[in-house]
Amino acid sequence: MSDSPPLPPADWPVMEPGWVWLCGAGPGDPGLMSLHALNALRQAEVIVHDALVAPHILGWARPGAELVDVGKRGGRPSPKQHEISLQLVELARAGRRVLRLKGGDPFMFGRGSEEARTLVRHRVPFRVIPGITAGIGGLAMAGIPVTDRDVNQAVTFVTGHDPSGDTPPLDWAALARASPVIVIYMGMRTISRIAEALIGAGRAPGEPVAVVRNASLPDQQVLETTLARAAADIAAAGLSAPAVIVIGRAVLLRQALEWPAMAAGQPTRNPEPPGPGRPAEAP
Ligand code: SAH
Repeated sequence: MSDSPPLPPADWPVMEPGWVWLCGAGPGDPGLMSLHALNALRQAEVIVHDALVAPHILGWARPGAELVDVGKRGGRPSPKQHEISLQLVELARAGRRVLRLKGGDPFMFGRGSEEARTLVRHRVPFRVIPGITAGIGGLAMAGIPVTDRDVNQAVTFVTGHDPSGDTPPLDWAALARASPVIVIYMGMRTISRIAEALIGAGRAPGEPVAVVRNASLPDQQVLETTLARAAADIAAAGLSAPAVIVIGRAVLLRQALEWPAMAAGQPTRNPEPPGPGRPAEAP
């Protein structure tokens, strides 16, 4: 291992003054950040981050870095999107090295593209660093593969609400017919209406659904339910955002994989789990 390359390697990007790096931090566990994200955290002078970026990720920032929280906190309204974008422009123009850090992937329902467009308009140079999105990596952390050759040849990612807070004006009937697996971001408030629309369009009320809250974080919660019962079960379990909801038979694979239980050394339903990493059974 002694001859492995340094981290970051010498030829990796250097954050220049006046630049903005628009970066995804992944779903929460710092281990799920990319090495480019870590390289960015180590260089940035100002980190403009959302509420979804977990505090233990910000702990990797370079000492003395200024942290600017633009997420909703303690009931205070969050800054408007265009204010955030303009703040990035101002910081860059002041010659700072700016990291714009977002939960998951910046371009997956993250408004990263809007910020990038503002930077383009103001001729601020920027770089984009993708991240692991909650709707793929977050589900994997709950043991749910977002595709499986025997289950689904397609998956659709939808947002649960449009800018007004209502369900987005999607063709739910077409989605119900075309997409065997549907992954919903920001859908906790609208799931009852979405489920109703999908059932109305022919999806089985008993179709499996999983809700994964705080995916990849120590307090991750997973609820397995059905399309017809989802809203009631979410309310009964007291689950709130942030959570991804996945609809479809991919959810059933969770019981077959059971890797989170295996990794945690907990008993699994699988009678013969692989040996390595599994603590010895008590006699
Ligand atoms: N850009 C982000 C999504 C931002 S929208 C990404 O790529 O993941 C915010 C929504 O993302 C939340 O309402 C929730 O649906 C989902 N989300 C983000 N982080 C999550 C997490 N750790 N666990 C579960 N859902 C999460």
